[in-house]
Amino acid sequence: MAKPTSKTIQVFRSLQQVRDWRHQCYLRKEKVGFVPTMGALHAGHCSLVAQSLKDNDRTVVSIFVNPSQFAPHEDLESYPRTLDSDLEVLESFEDKQIDAVFVPMKSEMFPSGITTDLAKQRGAFVSVLGCSEQLEGVKRPQFFRGVATIITKFLNVVKPTNIYFGQKDAQQCVVIKNLVKDLLFDVIVKIMPTLREPNGLAMSSRNAYLSPEVREKCGFIFKSLEAGKQLYEKESATGRSVSSDVLIQHMKGVMSETDIDFELEYLAISHPDTLDNLDFIRPEVGALISTALTVPKQDSNERARLIDNVLLAPI
Ligand code: AMP
Repeated sequence: MAKPTSKTIQVFRSLQQVRDWRHQCYLRKEKVGFVPTMGALHAGHCSLVAQSLKDNDRTVVSIFVNPSQFAPHEDLESYPRTLDSDLEVLESFEDKQIDAVFVPMKSEMFPSGITTDLAKQRGAFVSVLGCSEQLEGVKRPQFFRGVATIITKFLNVVKPTNIYFGQKDAQQCVVIKNLVKDLLFDVIVKIMPTLREPNGLAMSSRNAYLSPEVREKCGFIFKSLEAGKQLYEKESATGRSVSSDVLIQHMKGVMSETDIDFELEYLAISHPDTLDNLDFIRPEVGALISTALTVPKQDSNERARLIDNVLLAPI
């Protein structure tokens, strides 16, 4: 990789640089915010960065396409890598600048090496059991192990005061909260709302795989989730439990109105903290409605996988 440079922000490539910088922050008693990303930055990522700038004295953003969360058949090779424009995006915050971008080297993050082939992996990995296997974990059994492992490594190096994640990846938020709780990490996990395109499509680096036409039509995903939320709000106004099945049928009905060629992988209603499947939603508990589906990729016979969710807040 050519050496990444920025006019105004320090770019760290080595763990030692981050550790030295962190030590100086510690001596100055500064609060450090950390935003882990895989790059191809968009406004969703920027909202996390903006919150970190508000909450902390210093902010560091990492850009690293983490191989350990991809399966061999997934898009590790083709995942969008746009480091130069990402650095420009990170330079463009107006009131306050971020302090550093961490672009780690794979060899340092995985000193025992890393392959996407689970059977050939060697070394230490972190699993968060109980919330990693359902929903996203069904199709992507090694995904959250990879996420929990890389975040553990980052927490060990950056030692942030606050770490920022997006509600867009709802199950990831649950996994990280449990990781931090169970492994006694001294960090506050902050979850920011999902930023959306004007048609409601959740912003995602993978939206780059879509043609403008498909991207526009993918507004049907959020529209259907919102329809489920509205029906829930109407039904729960009586204070009684609401049937998940009724909501799911309603949302599937809204989804079926689109003329786009989509394949639904799951549409689920789960406990917001345990992610257990819920047959009925108790208003005092609320729920997470989440979905994954695939749509055609631009200029290819392959399909892009999109996820989205809405939270039904407890009353
Ligand atoms: P990624 O680069 O996809 O790993 O995402 C890095 C962080 O940005 C994760 O915490 C994501 O949940 C968050 N994020 C991604 N998309 C959005 C979005 N549309 N709104 C808010 N946060 C997001």
